[in-house]
Amino acid sequence: MHSTAFLLILAVGSWAQDRTTEAGEAAIKDPGVECSPYGYPPVTAQLSAFPPSAQRAKILPSDTTAQALWRDISSKVPTNIAVKPASGPPGYNYDGSDPDCWWTWSRCVSPKQPGLEPDVADVPEPSTLGYGFDDGPYCGHNLFYDFLASKDQKTTFFFIGTNVMDYPLEAQRAVVDGHEVCVHTWSHPPMTSLSNEDAFAELYYSMQIIKLVTGVTPTCWRPPYGDVDDRIRAIAQALGLQNILWKYDSDDWQFGSNGVTKEQIDANYEKMLNDGRNGLFDTKGAIILSHELNNFTLQEAIDIYPEIMSVFKHVVPVGVALNKTYPYVEKDFVLPSFEEYIHGMHTATPDDVDIPDVSNGTNGNSSPTTISTPNAAASSSAPSPPPQAPPPAAPDASDNGALTHFTFISPMIVATAIALWMLAC
Ligand SMILES: [Zn+2]
Repeated sequence: MHSTAFLLILAVGSWAQDRTTEAGEAAIKDPGVECSPYGYPPVTAQLSAFPPSAQRAKILPSDTTAQALWRDISSKVPTNIAVKPASGPPGYNYDGSDPDCWWTWSRCVSPKQPGLEPDVADVPEPSTLGYGFDDGPYCGHNLFYDFLASKDQKTTFFFIGTNVMDYPLEAQRAVVDGHEVCVHTWSHPPMTSLSNEDAFAELYYSMQIIKLVTGVTPTCWRPPYGDVDDRIRAIAQALGLQNILWKYDSDDWQFGSNGVTKEQIDANYEKMLNDGRNGLFDTKGAIILSHELNNFTLQEAIDIYPEIMSVFKHVVPVGVALNKTYPYVEKDFVLPSFEEYIHGMHTATPDDVDIPDVSNGTNGNSSPTTISTPNAAASSSAPSPPPQAPPPAAPDASDNGALTHFTFISPMIVATAIALWMLAC
């Protein structure tokens, strides 16, 4: 009886986890299971082509393609803007006229160096929210993505490169589900504190890992902490990345630190929502900073969603709000225009996107760099854990009704219960 019960646990447990395909990974409802590391051959075969996980990116000595590209664009970077302290402005003796358009200093979004495009900090469409989330892919995000799918709601995800490397199937889900994906750097540094070359590496390798994993190369990015100046803008623009900032900040990432409560996060969302009720978005829309960081931030997004929908006429991916129908370098992926989206066409063309296929070892679209076709037969060693919060404990379903999205009965729990029942017999 004991061995039967043990085998039953093994059988149900393995049935619950197909961690070789996007669809299999998307079917996992237990964030704890979803967050356990796994190996994905198209990535593990290419680990040497990327900086190590959870470390600042550097141009790899062996990467002649990156070196050549950097040589090409390095001349486009202003030489009169100093590297800034990682700690930001406090106590820093900086020119108050803000000649560098340093957002961290003055919330400047209109570059002062010639030839640089302005940042996007709000959206031109009235009563519209450019909806997006930073810091993903969060390894336990399936329940939130399921929620979005249930609402036929698309959004923009700003992905951290090392998270994509560590949880590639989660990154694939964003593209397969028809969301927009932008870059949020390789290792989440304050970008103005990096050298030109290292700032390039942070963006370049993020673009490359997203391309390797999802088949598409982003054309947008968001600087961690909003930390950007004209030097960093020039590097990003040379890589073809449009800079997306925000005007409202949920500060949802602060929950649980320094006594920050859910009520305070709610109040941050309410500030934007009240501005909407008071007509501030009647002529142009808004962007708020929210995070795909952990179960709390995603549950908060679920909780606040009905109110967001009641205040804004339209809640759309940032790229849709900008009428950016070609969000990637690859032109076979087309987002709906704003007019199409608000008239019910929420689906992009994900069928045209070729994500790496482990089953036959192909990589769909050809890579724009020296990154070669992934070899499914290569190493199966799991990447190291990502630089994000560990899987949180099961949420408290008594908090509110919407928590049903994060409440589940794991197949493992069912199997264990059956086994215990059998043992009791
Ligand atoms: Zn971030």
